[in-house]
Amino acid sequence: LVPRLRPFTSTIFAEMTALAVRTGAVNLGQGFPDTDGPEAMLERAQRAIGEGVNQYPPGPGMPELRAAIAARRARFGQEFDPDTEVLVTVGATEAIAASLLSLVEPGDEVIVFEPYYDSYAASVAMAGATRVTVSLAEQESGRFGVDVDALRAAVTPRTRAVLVNSPHNPTGTVFTRDELAGIAAVCAEHDLIAICDEVYEDLVFDGHAHLPLGAFPGMAERTLTISSAGKSYNCTGWKIGWVCGPAPLVGAVRAAKQFMTFVGGAPFQPAVAHALSHEDAWVAALRESLSDKRERLSAGLADAGFAVRRTEGTYFVCADVRPLGFTDGLQLCRELPEKAGVAGVPVQVFTDNPDRWRHLVRFAFCKKDEVIDEALARLRKLR
Ligand code: PMP
Ligand code: GLN
Repeated sequence: LVPRLRPFTSTIFAEMTALAVRTGAVNLGQGFPDTDGPEAMLERAQRAIGEGVNQYPPGPGMPELRAAIAARRARFGQEFDPDTEVLVTVGATEAIAASLLSLVEPGDEVIVFEPYYDSYAASVAMAGATRVTVSLAEQESGRFGVDVDALRAAVTPRTRAVLVNSPHNPTGTVFTRDELAGIAAVCAEHDLIAICDEVYEDLVFDGHAHLPLGAFPGMAERTLTISSAGKSYNCTGWKIGWVCGPAPLVGAVRAAKQFMTFVGGAPFQPAVAHALSHEDAWVAALRESLSDKRERLSAGLADAGFAVRRTEGTYFVCADVRPLGFTDGLQLCRELPEKAGVAGVPVQVFTDNPDRWRHLVRFAFCKKDEVIDEALARLRKLR
């Protein structure tokens, strides 16, 4: 393995899921739902297979899907030409990797907010670039805010891009208008590309609004907006994602993408196009249900003795393990399946400053109520 990829041999999700399977633990580690997406969407995919939609789809993605993606972005205040400014990818993961591989040179710096989704670090490394992290600030309210001054201070003449993820995994923070305006100002001042991962855009609670950075003044020409169907329609295994942006940037991403996977997911593309155009009520019900599950898990974790942080979006809750007498989230997560029969994910592995994040463990609540309740009953015995 080449040196720059040596830190990335196994993901924490694979490790914790394997541990959960081996010990029979309730898996609140890896974030994937345990129920299916909308019935009509599933039928569309089955029908597509039956109708022979089984060969390579068009390189940029099926036209009906690209049109549905552009229409969806319009609702967030972004305008894209489906023919030149929308590219279907194999999940958001490929969109992120292809964006970096096509726009960042070896030696360039890419700023990521930490904690960061694990694929960002690996993709920056694959591009031969250097990761520069800016910590989110743990606020008294229990949310994790953007320190715009710290972002500005992290920019150097080598900085090429900033990776922005809101709603944010793992903290559950939804970036505010002011925070995003601050990021936009830094991007404009230093002529940076913004690569925005918005896969949790539909999963925001309590009246928080998802605001795409690309819709801020001056940002459209320098922003790639990435999302996928997995979280909005409970189909994380289909891996239908997309990237939208100005034609020159999307054209660059397409150049890389065509030699990574070329195309993907033919029979799922019409199904996701259907979902994007017809399943708003289903998504609204999912959001309601996830908001209840968030309350259920957060209250239960507090009851079990954790100090629970506030989740505004996504399907994750971060819990401080110190009140229970633990000091190291990674060590706790390695023991927890055996000790308590529950799996979580340590936040510190998504950072370059583990000491600052050691006290936090992430739990996923995209699970049936009885699964959450069983996990909580087990965790209550930790005290
Ligand atoms: N970004 C974030 C923040 C995620 O949590 C995930 C989770 N899977 C992804 C990207 C990857 O999305 P996809 O499965 O569509 O590749
Ligand atoms: N996105 C999911 C999470 O954060 C899982 C992704 C994965 O397993 N690679 O838990």
